[in-house]
Amino acid sequence: MNIASDVLAPQDRLPPDPSVYQTLLESTRAIPWRIDWATLRFTYIGPQIETLLGWSQDSWLTVDDWATRMHPEDRDWVVNFCVSQSQSGVDHEADYRALHKDGHYVWLRDVVHVVRDAAGQVEALIGFMFDISERKKTEQELAALHKKLEEYSFQDGLTGVANRRMFDSVMAETWDHAQRHQQPLSVILIDIDHFKDYNDLHGHLKGDECLRAIASLIKTSARRTRDFVGRFGGEEFVMVLPESDGEAALRVAQRCQAMVAEAAIPHGHGQNVTVSLGVGTVVPTRQDDANAFLDRIDRHLYEAKRQGRDRIVAG
Ligand code: GH3
Ligand code: MG
Ligand code: MG
Repeated sequence: MNIASDVLAPQDRLPPDPSVYQTLLESTRAIPWRIDWATLRFTYIGPQIETLLGWSQDSWLTVDDWATRMHPEDRDWVVNFCVSQSQSGVDHEADYRALHKDGHYVWLRDVVHVVRDAAGQVEALIGFMFDISERKKTEQELAALHKKLEEYSFQDGLTGVANRRMFDSVMAETWDHAQRHQQPLSVILIDIDHFKDYNDLHGHLKGDECLRAIASLIKTSARRTRDFVGRFGGEEFVMVLPESDGEAALRVAQRCQAMVAEAAIPHGHGQNVTVSLGVGTVVPTRQDDANAFLDRIDRHLYEAKRQGRDRIVAG
């Protein structure tokens, strides 16, 4: 028998019956879905959704059903992120916790493709939901381990600059030194502007990347070897500048602000990422208290925000 003659050439193959696609889609572990963009209604969701989340296939009517069955802590950023990406016609993915009918949460990764019509307008979103609970569990265990390690170290795990613990000890030591030698000491608090919106627009992973970039710019703007740069918390950084008067500190703050501007990290809506800075200088006397000094700088930072951000308030 001539085996080759029994094999169909590609051009002779018949396209599979659409039901073949449906069987394929509905037998994978990934859950396919389609949302009509004009009405924001589900036009399809795979029956596997009921096995995974307990809600029946026909209970998924609109994007509201999707949004309300999401962990409240994930909902705002996921919905804002997916809407803004879809509006700009960009394929995207998001990890979030979906509510199971019996009350617990399941980690999902939603991978979304934006379908456009012939005129280029967004017509529909199609995507797959993947159950990533196992991966998340491993990630969370790793993160917990990382946090433990971090507690024993002096480095911030995400940005690589010094952590809050290190700042506390450097600040106490520098304060004592300045007090004993009656030398000026300056501190700069730096807070990224509208960073919550950045996360909402670009996702948390991009947010983390932005934090790393800003940390590295701040580090480069501190030129002297004894200058200290640390992560104060969240999206706030701190610089401790020993033996620096107000003028020197202001120059460092201006350099830092200029370097962030030059880096031109896109924030969204045509704007770049900016920072607000609070600067303070003190020659500490016996009566002075380091916490009161930091509070004063925090108030300057607050004032910089109040005046419209992307600025320095010193005093
Ligand atoms: P403002 O200009 O007033 O500072 O506004 P903001 O949005 O920057 O300030 P807000 O304090 O409201 O939000 C800070 C945001 O920073 C919220 C939080 O999710 C985000 N954030 C804090 N730490 C991290 C982090 O480690 N990674 C990421 N991606 N985001 C973080
Ligand atoms: Mg802040
Ligand atoms: Mg901020």
